[in-house]
Amino acid sequence: MPFTLPKLSRRDFLKRAALAGATLTLVPPSYASPFGKSRDKHTFVLYSDTHIAADASAKFLNARMADNLAAVVRELSAWPVCPAAVIVNGDLAFKSGLPEDYPTFGKLIEPVRALAPVHLSLGNHDERENFWQAFPFDATRLKSVPQRQSSVFASDRANWFLLDSLELTDHTPGDLGAAELDWLHRELAARPDLPAIIVCHHNLQVPGGTPGLKDTAALEDLFVRHRQVKAFIFGHTHDWRVSTHVSGVHLINLPPTGYVFQAGRPSGWVRCTLARDGAEIELRSLDPKHPEHAQVKKLSWRTA
Ligand SMILES: [Zn+2]
Repeated sequence: MPFTLPKLSRRDFLKRAALAGATLTLVPPSYASPFGKSRDKHTFVLYSDTHIAADASAKFLNARMADNLAAVVRELSAWPVCPAAVIVNGDLAFKSGLPEDYPTFGKLIEPVRALAPVHLSLGNHDERENFWQAFPFDATRLKSVPQRQSSVFASDRANWFLLDSLELTDHTPGDLGAAELDWLHRELAARPDLPAIIVCHHNLQVPGGTPGLKDTAALEDLFVRHRQVKAFIFGHTHDWRVSTHVSGVHLINLPPTGYVFQAGRPSGWVRCTLARDGAEIELRSLDPKHPEHAQVKKLSWRTA
């Protein structure tokens, strides 16, 4: 089963909003009711590397991460339509996945739960048990792969496979492991017809690049075996860019929401709108003056 925060009902939303107004200063002021908006079932919102500390005023590399997450949540709340789903692709917590970090993350992401289901994955700065403890009412304890949070959900134009590449907290590389790779192979084999989009915190390991997935070669083998895999979406490097793997799979490196490693690179999020034969992706920079802000890339899927 996925780790998903289900979309809130109108009643639940209003109850939580009232509570938030009374007790939380973290919640963005635009806690406006989204009910009545239509849904764009082909558009997905991708956040990554939020790096939220328990203390919402915490700063790192000149960024105040909680303010950044609140800003992207406000932007989404102001959209005229609701997305099909929101994915937060790991490194939810600041550094070592402390128990206190997750409630702060939960409060900041809460307004988005009124808009769409929110799918959460884990990165190397998360800690599974603390994460699971933090969402006791929303978490399902049934996991597809023991100790991992791999999951799959369907949309009209693609199946989304969410991987868990957290190997060791606060240790840069990640891995999937044999059990998760086997699971992915089986789930892909069971869904050959729709395009498959794989989402994973860690990047494919390339020589000289950021330490990423230790079992990159095994994952690349699945790209070859399952032609319906069209895109691999990841974070971890904190460096927005789009490229193409030698197999023809599109590689979408999400920008961080929290902070960039290299001054001048954009932080923000990505809108992904699926077509039948590809996708349109747009960088939404936190700084609207950034030269790459609103940059739209049109991707065509490789042939089956
Ligand atoms: Zn990160």
